[in-house]
Amino acid sequence: MGLIVQKFGGTSVGSVERIKAVAQRVKQTVEQGNAVVVVVSAMGKSTDTLVELAKAISTNPCRREMDMLLSTGEQVSISLLSMALQELEQPAISLTGTQVGIVTEPEHTRARILNIATERLERHLKEGKVVVVAGFQGTSNTSDLEVTTLGRGGSDTSAVALAAALQADRCEIYTDVSGILTTDPRLVEDAQLMDEITCEEMLELASLGANVLHPRAVEIARNYGVQMAVRSSWTDDPGTSIIPTGTQPKTLTDLELGRPVDAVHFDLNQAKVALLHVADRPGVAAGLFGELANQGLDVDLIIQSIHDGNSNDIAFTVARECCDRAEAVATAFGATLPTNSASEVIVERNVAKVSIVGAGIIGRPQIAAQMFQTLSDMGINLQMISTSEVNVSCTIAAADCERATAALCKLFEVTSSSVDSGLSLPDHPIPPVRGVALDLEQAQLAIRNVPDRPGMAAHIFQTLAKQNISVDMIIQSQRSRQVGGQITRDIAFTVAAMDLEVAQGLLHDLSSTLGCGDVASESAIAKVSIVGIGMLGQPGIAAHMFAALAEQKINIQMIATSEIRVSCVVAQNDGITALQAIHKAFHLG
Ligand code: ADP
Ligand code: ASP
Ligand code: MG
Repeated sequence: MGLIVQKFGGTSVGSVERIKAVAQRVKQTVEQGNAVVVVVSAMGKSTDTLVELAKAISTNPCRREMDMLLSTGEQVSISLLSMALQELEQPAISLTGTQVGIVTEPEHTRARILNIATERLERHLKEGKVVVVAGFQGTSNTSDLEVTTLGRGGSDTSAVALAAALQADRCEIYTDVSGILTTDPRLVEDAQLMDEITCEEMLELASLGANVLHPRAVEIARNYGVQMAVRSSWTDDPGTSIIPTGTQPKTLTDLELGRPVDAVHFDLNQAKVALLHVADRPGVAAGLFGELANQGLDVDLIIQSIHDGNSNDIAFTVARECCDRAEAVATAFGATLPTNSASEVIVERNVAKVSIVGAGIIGRPQIAAQMFQTLSDMGINLQMISTSEVNVSCTIAAADCERATAALCKLFEVTSSSVDSGLSLPDHPIPPVRGVALDLEQAQLAIRNVPDRPGMAAHIFQTLAKQNISVDMIIQSQRSRQVGGQITRDIAFTVAAMDLEVAQGLLHDLSSTLGCGDVASESAIAKVSIVGIGMLGQPGIAAHMFAALAEQKINIQMIATSEIRVSCVVAQNDGITALQAIHKAFHLG
């Protein structure tokens, strides 16, 4: 006899018929000899309808009242499903988050789970009942016992957290597609089902726009080794297994807080090559990285900042022994570009890459900001920054590496290790690119002419972090400009579109206090990303992606990479075409 947590999303409980079908499936699972806890979302699009109601009354509704309102959606579906089970003569009881004892931080609309009491759940299971729990909600750990919600899509997180707390045998997420596909089937018709995906890959995909799973659910599965699968509500097919990797035993208190950073990694064997003043037009990145791949040169970080006038800079790192060859390729490539762009190659042979990694970085912008602050307090200048939801990497002078690593280990209370990112390839062959994601809900911001001295990035990102604004793709331009006798650089990054206005306001204030230049913003962007653990140590993957975009004449506005992903910002109108072209280029259909 096993204990199984089953979660059903909005569409799966979208009508009376569907609720009845879910009840049948749950009953079957019980008849197979299992104890079952069911987590449900609000019916159909009812959460969206509640949001619209609130917006019709207030342009900026208070977050506490939003929680009070949105938490009602799930209360409808738990009671109906419980009734449907009882109709099938399956004993069942519905419980709200508060009744279960799902305790969260008091952060309305984005609370993290701290603890889950299991006594009541276990008592009802022992009585032979199916327990139907409202997803997405909890109660604050304050004396006022406020109703909180976990953020949109958060029922997945409720389900996996319950599975972790109950030490369930597995957690099944039932939804309206057959599992995790190579990309969103609503955008690419021939998207294919994957049998399995690692937690690391899923974390990146989920946080880059594949909203089939709430990233925090994957984070919990990874941290607690929960066996989880995503399956279709309409069939009995097995769906996609999400493979937990590298779990360390963790206590169940402060469930979603834990230690945000798992490790500090450093790589002393890096060199940086930057190609400046290249024309801002389709095909340039494809040409450069295609040539590097032809030479078998494995590129690690790649960044391309926002354009400056009609030209752009591209910088990348390679292993130090490849530096001369990479420089030769970049120089030769620069010479093939139209002469009016007067490209220039800069090489720095002695750089180190220092990274923090951990699923707990997700949605906690203060972690990256603390990293930047610590390095700047030591007078260490950040040359390149590349971030993903689970990894923040900076390149710094190699001579600073040892003390930087020591300081970061102390700050995050972890040990360091060299080079190895902690990611390991499965023992069977896997494709270099597992999936492709599109995020149309992002905006791009840039602050021009930031004085080039330690502490500037720290200051900017601390300020944003204080308002809980998460940033992605932070890119510092490679070229510098003299302004009033001072060397300056531009810093660009992306934020969620809903945070744009607040972020813009903050940057304007910062710009005057720090003596920077204009703040530029662009909301008509799309971020398209490839993700795959199989791209580790495989040259040419990024080049192939850039070539697919070039073939469609799509201009790349920004590029950022981490070990297992490459993201490009393109014009919003090009987003879907870009996604389709990349999906095809990697033969994922
Ligand atoms: P639920 O209500 O069951 O939680 P969601 O709407 O949150 O369902 O998530 C399922 C949807 O996620 C699918 O209908 C699909 O359009 C979308 N999606 C985006 N990317 C992917 C992907 N890589 N694989 C599967 N579905 C995806
Ligand atoms: N009902 C909530 C939402 O629509 C939570 C969920 O479905 O996961 O965001
Ligand atoms: Mg969902």
